[in-house]
Amino acid sequence: MSEGPGPTKAHDPVSAAPVRVAFVALGSNVGERFEHLHAAARGLAALPATTIVGCSSIFETAPMGAAKFNFLNAVIALKTVVAPLPMLDVLLQLERSRGRAREEKWGPRTLDLDLLAMYGDEGPLTVAHPRLTLPHPGIAARDFVLRPLMEIAPSLQVAGQRLDHHLATLPEGARTVRGRHGLPLLERAPFGVSVPLLEGG
Ligand code: AMP
Repeated sequence: MSEGPGPTKAHDPVSAAPVRVAFVALGSNVGERFEHLHAAARGLAALPATTIVGCSSIFETAPMGAAKFNFLNAVIALKTVVAPLPMLDVLLQLERSRGRAREEKWGPRTLDLDLLAMYGDEGPLTVAHPRLTLPHPGIAARDFVLRPLMEIAPSLQVAGQRLDHHLATLPEGARTVRGRHGLPLLERAPFGVSVPLLEGG
């Protein structure tokens, strides 16, 4: 009796998708600010085939522009199979879930989430899509992004320069960080994510 073909493994789109490291910036300056950031972190950790691999301290940040109240800011690193545009949709959905309405630039916001950069085996992803720019063009100009990002990925480079170089050369008027809260956003997230240098942006 001839043996038939063995059971064929069904195509699994999740296990076939490339795993990448994504850096997400979180901010909140309205209402229960810690809870808004925690809710975002929980939402990200719950994504399919996604692990939080780095989590910064929480920074207290003076508002820019029209906003009146201080922000809390943090950065989280994820290993994920979620692709860039679906990740943007996740971030927008998480913002909406905390009651975020689209308002003026720099205005008050319950939750603001930005996808800073994504890294695959091929290095940093460059995306120029009407809805998504990667690496995020604002990284180098914002101390409230540079400071938390430096905690979890100190060797990253943006636009060919180290993060600490960008921080040191920021004009005084762009320095918004007023303090750092003691505990990282997610206390037990493992630190030290290892990624290639970011040359784009
Ligand atoms: P804002 O609320 O000011 O952060 O702007 C959000 C909008 O910026 C979103 O609707 C996105 O379409 C667009 N956008 C472009 N690139 C990015 C990015 N890297 N991360 C988050 N939003 C982005």
